[in-house]
Amino acid sequence: MTTIKLHNTRTRTKESFVPIDPDNVRMYVCGPTVYDRAHLGNARPVVVFDVLYRLLRHVYGPDHVIYARNFTDVDDKINATALARKQAGADGTLEQLVQERSDETIGWYLHDMGALGALEPNAMPRATQYIAQMIAMIEDLIAKGHAYAAEGHVLFAVDSWREGYGKLSGRSVDDMIAGARVEVAPYKKNPMDFVLWKPSSDELPGWDSPWGRGRPGWHIECSAMAYELLGESFDIHGGGNDLMFPHHENEIAQSCCAHPEGEFARVWLHNEMLQVEGKKMSKSLGNFFTVHDLLEQGIPGEVIRFVFLQTHYRKPMDWTEKKARDAEATLRKWRALTAGIEPAASAAPAVIVALGDDLNTAGAIAELHRLAAEGDAAGLLASARIIGLLSDDMGAWVEAGAVDLSSYAERLAHARVAAMQSKDFAEVDRLKAAYIAAGLEVRMGKEGVELVPGTGFDAGKLADV
Ligand SMILES: [Zn+2]
Repeated sequence: MTTIKLHNTRTRTKESFVPIDPDNVRMYVCGPTVYDRAHLGNARPVVVFDVLYRLLRHVYGPDHVIYARNFTDVDDKINATALARKQAGADGTLEQLVQERSDETIGWYLHDMGALGALEPNAMPRATQYIAQMIAMIEDLIAKGHAYAAEGHVLFAVDSWREGYGKLSGRSVDDMIAGARVEVAPYKKNPMDFVLWKPSSDELPGWDSPWGRGRPGWHIECSAMAYELLGESFDIHGGGNDLMFPHHENEIAQSCCAHPEGEFARVWLHNEMLQVEGKKMSKSLGNFFTVHDLLEQGIPGEVIRFVFLQTHYRKPMDWTEKKARDAEATLRKWRALTAGIEPAASAAPAVIVALGDDLNTAGAIAELHRLAAEGDAAGLLASARIIGLLSDDMGAWVEAGAVDLSSYAERLAHARVAAMQSKDFAEVDRLKAAYIAAGLEVRMGKEGVELVPGTGFDAGKLADV
């Protein structure tokens, strides 16, 4: 069996991965707070852990891997949007509008991540579906002396677990107090104590609890959902390294104290952050954009994925326009080479070996280049698909470039001239609707008709027009 080595943040070493149960390999990854479109940085962990998920499925079998990734749908920004819509006259109760905003954002997220070739995890729990389990876990933590209620809040008492708190990120509680921007509140016994439950105002979403109407803190959401779906001990926990402290540290404290018989997650994986043209992505620098923005600009999801995979997940990844152009050229070449070819029965061993070496995706891509240079199209296809490239359903963008759209544009232009005379625009409307249904953007100006393929363009749908 293929050996997988993974860098475990907890032990700070690259370890051979040995699942607790090879028939039931379990991974949890912290998912998005669903208040708006995912920006490009949000997509990095999705692609990184998608590659790991694919590798685990390859090694242990697709039916023997459970991948859970949550949606945090309890959030002030979701509430703010819902409230603004209500004030603008939208129909429905505030709760319905909150739910509507979450549904809308989750739909965008799954669409955008799907465009990057990310498989959907087998479990995608929403925090609001697990409130009862969170309350039960908090009650358990109080009963075990690890948490206390104060002024409508419940707080985790870090002093009750000094031996474990801070181990993941390698900090002591005293260091953390000295260095952290902790929220000082009169009801906290220790400034590092963090919120498990907090009160909710009457106009905002809330749930009844033994401590009054309120809502869960962010950290307890992941602990409760991971326990419900994966049990007290599971194999891998992943997320961006910006989540290591305090989020992951707090998840560990909650889970290990509520379920001391288990070990929570054995292996912790953290991906590094994303930059744009060498700079941190930020709204103030004007280099902030969403995955949707890039897709709308006509950058195929497959190209974005390829650029991501060229950098190892534990290194900062720099998104540049040049990399996107180069990736597109490579993928065009590879797609031309593999057109009409059946994939080989298995991926090249060197590709699997590279991936098994702490997800060395750059090494895997180097192997793909080698296969392409040797003209081994079948081997290239099978190997690329292991990391989610060159799949059939992601290839529409190449065909879009290959279809000559000028004859379709001309047809619409002629129909328009005829319609100006006859005043009957039925044919113009019919053609326009058919082109739009095929995923084309139709631009009609004085100088003529221009057809621009969007990301969902399907040339096959033009055949019957
Ligand atoms: Zn989490």
